[in-house]
Amino acid sequence: MKHRQRVEHFRTDLLNWAEDNLRSFPWRDTTDPYEVLVAEILLQKTAAEKVAPIYIELLATYPSLNDLAEADRERLGDIIYSLGFQNQRSDALIKIGQELRDSGVPSEFQDLLELPYVGRYAANATLCFAYDEPQPIVDANVVRVYNRIFDKDFDYRDEDTWSFAAAVLPAEDARRFNLAILDFAAMVCHPKVPDCDKCFFTDSCHYYQANKTG
Ligand code: SF4
Repeated sequence: MKHRQRVEHFRTDLLNWAEDNLRSFPWRDTTDPYEVLVAEILLQKTAAEKVAPIYIELLATYPSLNDLAEADRERLGDIIYSLGFQNQRSDALIKIGQELRDSGVPSEFQDLLELPYVGRYAANATLCFAYDEPQPIVDANVVRVYNRIFDKDFDYRDEDTWSFAAAVLPAEDARRFNLAILDFAAMVCHPKVPDCDKCFFTDSCHYYQANKTG
């Protein structure tokens, strides 16, 4: 199968898989830029299941950028303590509240990148999930899927990887595709032993074809 056909096949099959398999998290029910950005800051290096109850409590306590700007650092730190990096995250959240309370969350990539605790992934995720822009999101889990399927040796920090992910992303359905690949990586294409028996892509996956026995 040619590369382009394989990419199209993967896109279609992943979006079909998403119909019945996407996980439910509170930040997935909103397109409010503030709520999306807060989620991306809490989710960094932290399991989504752990973040969910903390996220709900944080937004109930600080429902707006202005509330966050006025937050007591100790109280905010107590709320997010169990996620780790509570001092860094608290400082970043309060600073974001102070910087953006008048202007709102920016919709430009470079402006988002200037915020504390916001890197390329968080900026693109905010653009995609809040502003419906077709921007790819790439982390170590997403890269693992691409490396296995397409026989690549990508690192999530490399420019090539982001270009590849941008080319695979369907412009019309970017939000659902991004959610789907995150969930597929977490639920099926696991880091150590992928659950290939549950996968829709065995026929075209390089890793599966190279490692199957019998
Ligand atoms: S066949 Fe296995 S290795 Fe390939 S994408 Fe599916 S789960 Fe991952």
